Amino acid sequence: MAEEPKETGQTKPGFQNPVAGFGVTFKAMFKKRLTEQYPEQQKTTAPRFHGRHQLNRHPDGLEKCVGCELCAWACPADAIYVEGADNTDEERYSPGERYGAVYQINYARCILCGLCIEACPTRALTMTNEFELADSSRANLIYTKEQLLAGLDEGMVDSPHSIFPGTDEQDYYRGLVTEAAPGTVRQVAVSKGEKPEEEGVGA
Ligand code: SF4
Ligand code: SF4
Repeated sequence: MAEEPKETGQTKPGFQNPVAGFGVTFKAMFKKRLTEQYPEQQKTTAPRFHGRHQLNRHPDGLEKCVGCELCAWACPADAIYVEGADNTDEERYSPGERYGAVYQINYARCILCGLCIEACPTRALTMTNEFELADSSRANLIYTKEQLLAGLDEGMVDSPHSIFPGTDEQDYYRGLVTEAAPGTVRQVAVSKGEKPEEEGVGA
């Protein structure tokens, strides 16, 4: 048989309970509001916030990614897919031997931990402050290389294009290439299906 609840002697008289309850309400009314009016008001993220990734370029526009797949191996969520390919003198995307021909990050899997950034040997992969990644489609959450590749700053020429004259791959990492060489023009991306005869854009 259940025991009778003991009298503590601390119960307030019935008419005081609502007063105590409204006391809490009134106190809360005058506290500083913590509600953020998102998305109308965007909050500034911390400088080292882990947001959407970016594939970076050298100062002349060639890509930093060498297609080594180290980022994919480092990823604990198996969110990165990379296919490397060989550069040629006629179609060059990065200063070295290889480049990232296919690059995808699946944001349905990514936990934005940054381990891929740590693994990248060329600083090709970094993270931006962009955090609005939600989407109703799984397919849209797989970002392609074209979406992740950084835009062109002033003076850059889009890849593929030839290496800076008189330099080698290491000179790019020594900081000796600071802009595109005068007269640098974009090469035809034959491997991507561009036709030189029709487009007429050759090196
Ligand atoms: S941030 Fe983390 S989870 Fe996302 S792709 Fe990089 S390693 Fe994978
Ligand atoms: S982003 Fe970096 S780690 Fe990943 S494939 Fe490219 S060079 Fe290698």
